[in-house]
Amino acid sequence: MLKKYALIYGYSAYAPVISEKTMRVHYDKHYTGYLNKANEELERLNISDDMNEIIENRLYEKSQKLKDNFGGYYNHSLFWYMISPPEEGSRKPLPNTERFINQDFGSFFTWKEAIAEQAKKRFGSGWVWWVFNPKTRKTEVINTPYQDFPEMEEYGGKIPLFGIDVWEHAYYLDYENMRERYVNNILLSLVNWDYVEERLNTVLQKYA
Ligand code: MN
Repeated sequence: MLKKYALIYGYSAYAPVISEKTMRVHYDKHYTGYLNKANEELERLNISDDMNEIIENRLYEKSQKLKDNFGGYYNHSLFWYMISPPEEGSRKPLPNTERFINQDFGSFFTWKEAIAEQAKKRFGSGWVWWVFNPKTRKTEVINTPYQDFPEMEEYGGKIPLFGIDVWEHAYYLDYENMRERYVNNILLSLVNWDYVEERLNTVLQKYA
C-alpha cells in the first residue's frame, strides 16, 4: 500500500494564504481519494507499491485509472512538503537554490514571474513546477496538465524541486477565479525553502 504522507503542520497553519477549509477538503477528500484509488488499482493489477519503482519503471502507464490516481497521490505527497507555514524554517532561498535561481533566471523576481506565467498558461487543471533537467543540468519552469508529473517521458524526465497545484480545488474557496493571486501569495509566503534545498542537493549529488 502507498502510504499517506502527513500534513505535518496541520490544516490551519497555512492561513490566510490557504484557509483551513481548503486544506481540509484538499487533504481529506482529494488527496485521500487519489491515494485510495491508486492503492485499489495497484492491488487489482498486482503492481509494486514502491513509489520510486512505479515512477522509474513507468508502471503508472498500466492503466488510465492508475496514471490519474497515482499522479494525484504523488503530486500532492510532494506538495504537502513543498509548502510550509510562514513562521517555520527559512523564508528565503538557501545557498544552492539561490545559486540556481540566479544562474538560470537572473533573479528571484524573474524566477517568480516565470512561475506565475506558467501557472497562467496552464489552461484548466494542472500543476506548475520548478524542475531540474538532467540533460542540461539546468533548472526550468514547466506546467503539466491534470495529474501528470515532470518525471514522465513526455516532459523529458525532469525532477520537481518545487511545485504548485493550480487545480481549482486548490484555491477556489479562497480566491475564486484569481489563480494568479493564489500563486503569488504562495511564492511570497509559503515556499518550504528547506525542503527545496534538500531536493536540489539530492539531485546535485546524483547528477553533478
Ligand atoms: Mn489538488
